[in-house]
Amino acid sequence: MNNSILTVVVPCYNEQEVLPETVKELGGVLEKLIKDGNVSPKSKILFVNDGSKDKTWELISKYTKEYEYVTGIKFSRNYGHQNALLAGMSVAVEYSDMIITIDADLQDDINAIPEMVEKYNEGYDVVYGVRNSRETDTFFKRRTALAFYGLMSKLGVKLVLDSADYRLLSKRATESLLDFKERNLFLRGMVPLVGYDSAKVYYARKERFAGKSKYPLSKMLHFALDGITSFSIAPIHLILYLGVLTVIFSIIMMIYTLVEKINGHIVSGWASLMISIWFLGGVQLISISIIGEYVGKIFSEVKHRPRFVIETETYTEKMTKQDK
Ligand code: UDP
Ligand code: MG
Repeated sequence: MNNSILTVVVPCYNEQEVLPETVKELGGVLEKLIKDGNVSPKSKILFVNDGSKDKTWELISKYTKEYEYVTGIKFSRNYGHQNALLAGMSVAVEYSDMIITIDADLQDDINAIPEMVEKYNEGYDVVYGVRNSRETDTFFKRRTALAFYGLMSKLGVKLVLDSADYRLLSKRATESLLDFKERNLFLRGMVPLVGYDSAKVYYARKERFAGKSKYPLSKMLHFALDGITSFSIAPIHLILYLGVLTVIFSIIMMIYTLVEKINGHIVSGWASLMISIWFLGGVQLISISIIGEYVGKIFSEVKHRPRFVIETETYTEKMTKQDK
């Protein structure tokens, strides 16, 4: 009999189509874990409603009454996937010994959960869920994801390849993660920084069970850019190299111009002038925008705004009632 309390944190944004199935399947896994004595009977599923515009919260409330192990958090508005994960963890951490985060759409195989728990019981603080196949993702998503991971590793950011936000964290690993006070969240980059012994559990990524992806291309690009600029100042270094290269180039141009002048070809300067004006203008604009990206990040960090606002929450209540 194991008395470790597990909380499964599930961010939900407009997920009314998938929720009934999610509760059924996740609930099944949790019930089995409890029955087999692998986790405490106090273990919970914690749905974080990220400002959904559909019936998601109504469904969560209904399930909260129906099932002892279902709880929910309601955000006051949409704060995004990463903030939803963070909110779930910060509410759950006090009462949980381990926390698993998983998407609501069941694309990540829930059968990996018992394996994760097993790894936790073996003493690992961090267990990554790693996709061993991406067959169900579109060709485009696969390519872009691969390119992104490649770029990140070149920039010196440690990521676990093909692992997203499906993972188990022990209580102390979660507490350490919550000590990262940044507003620009890129959790999958932060978890490796937390350290502790980690293990991997492999699973096949499935098709979204129902509904549409909440990550359109624009959000994906934004997320990728956030990941890069939150974790690496390599782009700023790149500007330095670019500047040095430009200076070297302009010295060559100076010599060339002088030689031309000595040789008497004086009026022929139009083309080189035009090219340099546009080239330098472009380089400067790119450079300023890269710096701007970081200044913008500093701006949003120094404001110290709350990362999310919780409107209502049923987790703590259920947990404290149980203690009595
Ligand atoms: N999600 C969220 N807030 C958002 C967007 C998405 O909480 O603003 C949740 C969503 O409900 C899902 C998870 O994040 O549980 C992953 O989203 P999705 O499955 O749409 O992304 P994909 O798998 O296509 O990358
Ligand atoms: Mg998905």
